[in-house]
Amino acid sequence: MAVAYLSEVFSSIQGEGMDAGTRAVFLRFAGCNLACSYCDTPAAGTRLDAFPVQDDAGRTEIGNPVECSELIDIVARGFECRGLAVLTGGEPLLQISALSHVINGLKEKGFRTYLETNGTLPEAMREVRAIVDFVSMDIKLPAGQKGRDLGREHRRFLEAIEEGRGAVKIVIPGEASEGEVLAAVRLVADVRPALPVFLQPVFRRAKPEVVGERLLHLQRAALTLLRDVRISVQMHKILGMR
Ligand code: SF4
Repeated sequence: MAVAYLSEVFSSIQGEGMDAGTRAVFLRFAGCNLACSYCDTPAAGTRLDAFPVQDDAGRTEIGNPVECSELIDIVARGFECRGLAVLTGGEPLLQISALSHVINGLKEKGFRTYLETNGTLPEAMREVRAIVDFVSMDIKLPAGQKGRDLGREHRRFLEAIEEGRGAVKIVIPGEASEGEVLAAVRLVADVRPALPVFLQPVFRRAKPEVVGERLLHLQRAALTLLRDVRISVQMHKILGMR
């Protein structure tokens, strides 16, 4: 019997990346192995006794841990939008056994599965790469990790994902240097050059920390190393959604 610790389940639009604007159900897994300075879901770092499900009928509380089969039924019953299921966190790959069950179960119910990950757990990624439909991997810059360089972990993670079913998001805090951003771009160019890369400024109080000419400059520099580099914003935050 596989069980999962969740932090919340709700419906919204996918606010960023390849599927920006698509209606989706979000399954936020509890627990994270990082502590990013700009984390916008710090509550998801902790496993609580229960988690809220905000579905089409209203709000209910479900006890943690929840059986994966029950979680799949809750999502399949409660949400009309049968398109995209976003598996996010926290860090979903920390609960690899539960995540595999949930991906398989949601696919059987007709959902397309979209994994959002911090890109640091390559062994777990290998266990689900054949079943998940799409992987959005973050590259975390040292500026958001108190100077810690996660380049080695990210390199091994890139090796574990497939081109054609994924994308990379480089999250850029205001204090990040151009050198850090380009080191991340170079890493992708070195390991998985066909992956689309999104340059996404950190949002604080609904405002991006990097704007205008600086973003254009970073994109221009990145495009000398990679073919597909896009600028992304967290649309849901601008629109006042979750
Ligand atoms: S990886 Fe994501 S959930 Fe974990 S601390 Fe960083 S921003 Fe927060």
